[in-house]
Amino acid sequence: MKSQADTRQALVIGAGLSGSAVAYSLARRGWKVLVLDQAQCVGAGASGLPAGLAAPHVSPDDNVLSRITRAGVQATLERAQTLLKSGTDWALTGVLEHNLLGKRRLPADPLDPHSALASASQIDAAGLPPRSPALWHAQAGWIRPRQLVAAQLQNPNIQVLWEQKVDAIERHDETWTVTDAHGHVLGQAPWLVVASAFESLALLQHLPGFAVPLNPLRGQISFGHMADLTETQHQRLPPFPVNGHGSFISGVPTPEGPLGWFIGSTFERNCTQTPVRFEDHAANELRLSSLLPGLAEVMAGQFAPDRVQGWAGLRCTLPNRLPAVGPIDPQRLPGLCLSTGMGARGISLSVLCGELTAAWLNNDPLPLPPALAKHLAAQRFAST
Ligand SMILES: Cc1cc2nc3c(=O)[nH]c(=O)nc-3n(C[C@H](O)[C@H](O)[C@H](O)COP(=O)(O)OP(=O)(O)OC[C@H]3O[C@@H](n4cnc5c(N)ncnc54)[C@H](O)[C@@H]3O)c2cc1C
Repeated sequence: MKSQADTRQALVIGAGLSGSAVAYSLARRGWKVLVLDQAQCVGAGASGLPAGLAAPHVSPDDNVLSRITRAGVQATLERAQTLLKSGTDWALTGVLEHNLLGKRRLPADPLDPHSALASASQIDAAGLPPRSPALWHAQAGWIRPRQLVAAQLQNPNIQVLWEQKVDAIERHDETWTVTDAHGHVLGQAPWLVVASAFESLALLQHLPGFAVPLNPLRGQISFGHMADLTETQHQRLPPFPVNGHGSFISGVPTPEGPLGWFIGSTFERNCTQTPVRFEDHAANELRLSSLLPGLAEVMAGQFAPDRVQGWAGLRCTLPNRLPAVGPIDPQRLPGLCLSTGMGARGISLSVLCGELTAAWLNNDPLPLPPALAKHLAAQRFAST
């Protein structure tokens, strides 16, 4: 029989926001974690997004997604506070949510204590017409996901091996073994967490009873350098990110270094291609014209093909927009966990999901009330 010290070891497949968050949460509890990723370095998948928002979801009835994202954003902001450099890696700016007519209904009085109807001066600062329907989320801001991934992986209990594409997983003698396409063993441990986004499906779909309905959802953002903006364009930039039908962020370092502006994102179902496309820049320009019409009017030239830059990635989604985390099927697949399906909210949800998985594995108190945690459990998809 193995001692407890032997069993507190995990393999994690995928070094994006999901995998790095699980690894960090386990490592903080004293587990030894080996993370394997097929890429050469951080940010190969959706977590290579240059900049995104941590912002809560709100709904008139404060539904499950709203309550979970609120807890998730809180967890992410605390992690950012601990591990990241404010102003360059992330910033707690507050986020204005502009709700367009015909889109999702905003609650008259948000139940989130950190959200409220936006004030006239906040609406004005965003450059929106007076009385535009908008909320102000005080506990929200922008984050550069690669920075968070890299910081989470910097833990002495975590070892990361790059350029390790896992091709197969199997369990013998209470140990999971992962191998590459040549059958070489890449790692072994009693616990295995699959966090390889949509590619998790290829690794898991042959397992008995596996029925988590993962889907790819392509998305592209458009961005440019602040230094290339005219004086008029600068003056029209909102002083905080604006979210709604798309999102606009400015004053955040671009992947090359200089400060930039960012508008996203497109949504394209069942597409697994990630090259940047000009028609998607056009779609983002259109998105800006409904999110921030005044800014869009003056930004037109910035979307010219020789000026605009882009980044595209694949989100991994589930039908109810809630991730699938933790043990998949403890009876048939003991020791096998998932942390994926973050959809369009990996920044807001991955840290909480990592904590939840680690709490389940380490028999700790959960970071969420059990009635909410069960909505995230990968086990909810286990077939009978
Ligand atoms: C355009 C766009 C805009 C977005 N904006 C926001 C936003 O504003 N706010 C927000 O919260 N979220 C946003 N998201 C979503 C967020 O980026 C994702 O939810 C998150 O990055 C998913 O992280 P992940 O670790 O699950 O997946 P990934 O980051 O895709 O990581 C998966 C990793 O697994 C590795 N891998 C895959 N297969 C294998 C294998 N067989 N062997 C070894 N390694 C493997 C990959 O190399 C990759 O590194 C956006 C996404 C997109 C595409």
